[in-house]
Amino acid sequence: MNENHYVVLAGGVGAAKFIRGLTQLVKPELLNIIVNTGDDIELFGLKICPDLDIITYTLAELVDNEKGWGFKNETFNCLHILKKFYDIGWFNLGDKDLATHIYRTDLFNRGFNKAEITNLICKDLRIKSHLMPMCNASVETFITTPKGKMHFEEYFIKHQCKPEILKIEFKGIEEAVPVEGILEYIEKAKKIIICPSNPIVSIGTILQVKGIRNALSLVKEKVIAISPIIEGASVKGPADKMMRYLGLDVSCVGVARLYHDFLGHFIIDDRDFDLKTKIEKLGIKTYPYDTIMTNLRKKIELAQFVLNLEI
Ligand code: GDP
Repeated sequence: MNENHYVVLAGGVGAAKFIRGLTQLVKPELLNIIVNTGDDIELFGLKICPDLDIITYTLAELVDNEKGWGFKNETFNCLHILKKFYDIGWFNLGDKDLATHIYRTDLFNRGFNKAEITNLICKDLRIKSHLMPMCNASVETFITTPKGKMHFEEYFIKHQCKPEILKIEFKGIEEAVPVEGILEYIEKAKKIIICPSNPIVSIGTILQVKGIRNALSLVKEKVIAISPIIEGASVKGPADKMMRYLGLDVSCVGVARLYHDFLGHFIIDDRDFDLKTKIEKLGIKTYPYDTIMTNLRKKIELAQFVLNLEI
C-alpha cells in the first residue's frame, strides 16, 4: 500500500467517465477502485457484473466511449441466437463481452471468489490499477413497480426506468462484508473520491456494506464527492426518480444530506451555485465547477480539479 494512494468509490457509467479523466493524471498503480456489485445479475447461466465490467473496460481502454459501456467495435451475433432460446434478450450482451462473463463464470465454478476473479481479469487485461468489488457476497437490487418486482437491470434496460418505483430492495446486503483490505485502504488513502454515481443504487449500495460508511466517517476530511445531480435532475439514469421515491430533496443538497456524516468536500455543478451556502451549512466544504463530462478534456479538467483540492 503506497501512502500516496487514492481510493475511488464507483458505480458504472458516471464513474467511468470520471475515472477516464483521472487515469490521464494519476499513475494507475495509485488507484484503488471500490466498485458497486449490487446490480450484478445471472443471465443465461452467466455471472454478469455490469459496473465492474464498465470500469474494467474503461481502465483497459477497451470501452465503447460513445455508449459508455461494453467493448468498442462490439457485435451482437450470439445474442441474436440466444433470443431464439430465451425470453431475456433485452440484456445487451455483446460477443466480446460474453468472453468476460464466460471466464468469470468458469472461475467462479472453479471456486474463486469475486475479488480473486476481478484480480485475474485485470491481470489478463493488463490493468495496473487495483479494482475491488465492494464485497464477495451476492447482492442484488430489486425494484417493485406497478408492472411487478424486477431486477434493477431489467428495470434499467428493458423498461428504461419508466415505471413508477414502489419499492427498492437490496437482497443479501445484510450479510455483505467488504472485500479484504478495503477498510485499510480507506483509512490510509491520500484522498477518497466518491464518483458522480447513483447515490441510491451505486454509491448507496457500497455504503451499506458493513463498516464502509463508518470507515469513511473516520477520515471525513479526506472524502470528496462529485454530485451526480445537476439542476434537480440526473445527467442520465434513474437517480433523480429514486431520490423522489425516497422522499428526498432531488438536488445536490439532497445528495449532500445523504452523504453528510462522512463527506468533507463536495463538488457541485456551476449551475447549482445558488445551493452552495445551503450545503456548507451541513458542514461540508462546497466547490462549484463545470461537472458535465461531455468529452475527454472535460473529464481530465474535473479530475484535475479534484486532485488540486487542498484538504
Ligand atoms: P450506472 O450504474 O451505469 O447508472 O452509473 P453510475 O451510478 O456510475 O452513474 C449514474 C449517475 O451518473 C447518474 O446519476 C448521472 O446523473 C451521473 N452522471 C453521468 N454523467 C455525468 C456527468 O457527466 N457529470 C455528472 N456530474 N454526473 C454524471
